[in-house]
Amino acid sequence: MTRAWVEIDLGALRRNGAAMAARATALLPMVKADAYGIGAVAAVRALETLSPWGFGVATLEEGRELRDAGVTRPIIVFTPTLPDELADLRAARLTPALGTARQIEAWRALGAGREDWHLAVDTGIHRAGVHWDEVDRLRPLLQAAPPQGAFTHFHSADLDDGSLAEQERRFEKAVAQLPARPDLVHTENSAALARTVKSRWSLARPGIFLYGVGSGPRALVQPEPVASLRARVVEMHTLEDGDTVSYGATYRAHGVRRIATVPVGYADGYRRVLGNRAQALVDGYCAPVVGVVTMDMTMIDVTQAPCDVGDVVTLIGRDGDQVRDVASVARDGDLSPYELLTGLESRLPRKYVNAP
Ligand SMILES: *Cc1c(COP(=O)(O)O)cnc(C)c1O
Repeated sequence: MTRAWVEIDLGALRRNGAAMAARATALLPMVKADAYGIGAVAAVRALETLSPWGFGVATLEEGRELRDAGVTRPIIVFTPTLPDELADLRAARLTPALGTARQIEAWRALGAGREDWHLAVDTGIHRAGVHWDEVDRLRPLLQAAPPQGAFTHFHSADLDDGSLAEQERRFEKAVAQLPARPDLVHTENSAALARTVKSRWSLARPGIFLYGVGSGPRALVQPEPVASLRARVVEMHTLEDGDTVSYGATYRAHGVRRIATVPVGYADGYRRVLGNRAQALVDGYCAPVVGVVTMDMTMIDVTQAPCDVGDVVTLIGRDGDQVRDVASVARDGDLSPYELLTGLESRLPRKYVNAP
């Protein structure tokens, strides 16, 4: 048994995928950033049982990793590719998302360009893609090399600010400007799909929901937790009244306290800001993290809980009936759940349970 690890419930991942698939016309699970830290190859193996149309990644290297693992379905690379990377992308049979004339021309120069790329349309996030009002400038190129798909990305699908409907309107307008409507037209991330009963788009691109993070109370469906960060207690200490814990002495004991030290710290991605704010699960009890989290160790007040050296503590995730899921730990630290999850470092081995 290792000192600390991330336990991944592939059964929960698959059920989350099935909940998304039930709303989607066809599924394009986003497995970028090593499937948000879950492990891309393991995630793909679990999600392939749902017969997705394909998978989404961010980079050429991520796409290659999946091809090397034997994935044969389409793989779309969503982050813009530099023109000099496109030959390698084509050699790996990856599908680029292109959004500028320069990118489309470079793709065509490789002999590619008919039905083997997707057009990125910017409808307000102002990150990548052709501006929704300027699609007609690409018309000659799009006529010569029609894309298989066109898509846009919502910036605030988890909010009720009306922006999603506005982005959809802009996207429809952009699609109507294309010489022909592509076979695959897609918009939804997890938050958008979780608020829909049945998608009207041809593909849906959920990411974070698959990995156990929901998008708030307005969502019609909530995911099961997938990732649990666990560690074993390496030392126990008894504090006297007035003793302090960790750097800066930000925690001071009131009365006698029992403190467990676990060998996980911010270098593992258990963020420093969680000190004095987050709770861990110890044998069915919620036990507060005391003092700032250090690089390699974190201290937990286990005065209420039976606890000894070697016992397993859950810093994120499920322990029996209790859950401190990624979203709630992120809230404790005013962190983005995306950052917390993708930030769990490779120093923490992944242990997979409930594989298909
Ligand atoms: C990351 C990403 C998604 C998935 O977003 P979630 O919020 O994790 O569901 C969908 N589409 C694109 C283009 C993305 O970059």
